[in-house]
Amino acid sequence: MPHHRSVVEIILPEPSLVVLIGAAGSGKSTFAARHFAPTEVLSSDRYRAILAGDEADQSVTKAAFARLHRDLTSRLLAGVLTVVDATNVEPSARRALLVRARTAGVPALAIVLDLPDTIVLARNAARRPRTVDESVIHRHLARLRRSLDGPGPGLGTEGFAAITTLHDPTEVDQVVIRRDPGPLSPLDR
Ligand code: GDP
Ligand code: MG
Repeated sequence: MPHHRSVVEIILPEPSLVVLIGAAGSGKSTFAARHFAPTEVLSSDRYRAILAGDEADQSVTKAAFARLHRDLTSRLLAGVLTVVDATNVEPSARRALLVRARTAGVPALAIVLDLPDTIVLARNAARRPRTVDESVIHRHLARLRRSLDGPGPGLGTEGFAAITTLHDPTEVDQVVIRRDPGPLSPLDR
């Protein structure tokens, strides 16, 4: 039976922290490029490239996230919307982002690319110039499943102001993102 889901609308307060969540190959970077300006997106792969010359170099992961977290803090304190493009399938990875949003007094929103495993694996296999090892993708998918369905406390308890889960490519294609600048200040009237 076909699904008849309505179009998903995501309303982003400004400023906010937008946390993309999904396995490698789920389409996070594509999604970020489609909906956000390049300067709004902090990508763990991009920091690996800056530090090691190679966005796949896992040996600089720690340094890459240290830089990403530092820049995230600066941006949120400056009051600018920021998107984090990393897998974020681990609770500890999300906690490191959420704590910075909380400190800056900025709401955190999650956008989950929970696509069927077969699609994620096929996209990864077709990926050029590099594919990620399939065992890594399976690990990401398992951790995402656990974050969404348990066992354990799960994404819903972590402190996100809103969580949007996209389940298939059609939903991802059709999603509408609106920015909410909030109430006008008296000076703007
Ligand atoms: P990430 O690892 O989550 O950042 O995933 P990417 O955005 O790099 O996408 C992984 C692969 O899937 C790339 O080859 C993309 O071109 C492809 N891809 C991503 N999003 C879409 C989509 O909406 N439709 C199609 N057909 N391919 C996509
Ligand atoms: Mg990516």
